Amino acid sequence: MKKLLATIGALVLTVTFATPSQSAGVKYSVYQKTLATYSGSATGLSSVQKAQVRATVEANPNADKFICTGIRYFDQPMSVNIMVRKRAKAACEYAKQLNPELSTWFQNKPTQARSYAGKVLLTVKSPDMREEANELSLDADICKLQEDSRVRSPGDLVVDYTGEAEIRGRYRGNSTAFPFAPTALPVTGAIDVALVYVDWEDNPGTAAGYEYYQEQVKFFEDFYWMVSEHKLDMRIHSSEDWFRIPGSYEELSLTFEEEAQRGEAPRKQVFYDAAVGASDPEFDFTGIEIVFFAIPTGKSVFFHGGPHEFNFDWNGFLDTDERAIYDTTTPGDWFLNSGGDEPPWVNYVHEVGHMIGIPHQANEDAKNESRLWIQNPLNGYDIMANQGGASRTMTSWLRWLAGWLDDDQVVCATKESITEEYFELHPINEVNGDVESLVIKLSGTEAVVVESRRFDPAFDRKSKNSKNGLLVYTVDATKASAQGNQALLSPRDITQYIEERYWRSGHELDAMFFQGDSVVIDGLKIEAYSIGKDSDVVKVSKVSG
Ligand SMILES: [Zn+2]
Repeated sequence: MKKLLATIGALVLTVTFATPSQSAGVKYSVYQKTLATYSGSATGLSSVQKAQVRATVEANPNADKFICTGIRYFDQPMSVNIMVRKRAKAACEYAKQLNPELSTWFQNKPTQARSYAGKVLLTVKSPDMREEANELSLDADICKLQEDSRVRSPGDLVVDYTGEAEIRGRYRGNSTAFPFAPTALPVTGAIDVALVYVDWEDNPGTAAGYEYYQEQVKFFEDFYWMVSEHKLDMRIHSSEDWFRIPGSYEELSLTFEEEAQRGEAPRKQVFYDAAVGASDPEFDFTGIEIVFFAIPTGKSVFFHGGPHEFNFDWNGFLDTDERAIYDTTTPGDWFLNSGGDEPPWVNYVHEVGHMIGIPHQANEDAKNESRLWIQNPLNGYDIMANQGGASRTMTSWLRWLAGWLDDDQVVCATKESITEEYFELHPINEVNGDVESLVIKLSGTEAVVVESRRFDPAFDRKSKNSKNGLLVYTVDATKASAQGNQALLSPRDITQYIEERYWRSGHELDAMFFQGDSVVIDGLKIEAYSIGKDSDVVKVSKVSG
């Protein structure tokens, strides 16, 4: 229930009334909520209105003033004043009962806005802590946890591989903590990506199919431009038409086992050779680093996710006249038949993430684990954890690790350095140079990270659950890629999912922190102090015990 109320409470209305509580010098952040319509001449609170008052009190635990305003439409008789004043009084009395510390004040006001007639507006003022925020900011290096996992130890040599021949068999996997482990591809600058269309006589490409992939690859390009803070430019080179592969598409179909990323997969290579054979005479692969093959969407060719290869971990490659290419992905049925829930661009983003060094977030050691918070502890909130989740983005920790977030966009603190501190954070998908991440080092191998999230219509799937608030998660540097090194904390109960319908599933972790929500981790209370229009404030305080 509290989850639902917090969501309702997050709605902030814009109507404002002058109040007697303005005091010079102190800046307030203002939170407003209009209670549901009263029936008839009722002056007491209905159960819905009580729930709204409770949600407002809970969303504002640091409030200085709690003002209840009964609203009379301007041409209603003065007698209405008495009724709306009683309504306001009852609302404030209930608020005071819930939190005796509150300083409450009730009043009545006329309005020209008919929709507010007879209602009660709650106005809550809390000190605006943005000016005092981020005063504690330690050297960023202190918070750069060193990976100390089954594949890597602190102080290990970081090799900047010059090419595929050198990296093959030597790379130990994408790093989960510092230092970043570069692959044969760059993580900043530009990467040349080819989109090569191939079809068959019995599975021909269409003009609409061509356009479909053009849109997909644009999402991919825009995503990396955003997530890298404009540091990584994916340059797309598309073939102008479909290249015809001789024979039937059925001769090149792949089952789940045949798509295998590791181990023997000879049938995959047959497809690669056929696709290169059809396109190479006309398509110039010079300088191309990654290839996506686009196949017609009508018939099943690749029965699972589709084949893909990484430069450090390949068991198939593209043998073009110009050069051998070891980075490729071709989305199969999982993406093409997802009804748009998991379109090809999320496959491009996820697999290319690995190609350039971004670690896998699901815990593949616990593949058969049904408890989501253990099997996929970032599920639904990061594209490296679940490509089908509602929030298609990457965490600020992954962005910092990749060098996309600069050190001055990350505020670093340690558990020991905090008694009571405020931090201001800007939403992670905004590219403006502001602080986007709070990293608090808890030990040599563990940190807790706080970041601001907003629903992003450019990339996220529509959801009935609010995605506007803070996300709080732990980072464990003893875990390697694909071991669940980042794990979400919930202000409610991580074991209680929220309903989130998506491709082949119906729930996600319940992890958003709305205003007033908090969690205690390792002796620190982390609280969503204010969720604002452009930025959020997080309060962190030491707690006893
Ligand atoms: Zn992955």
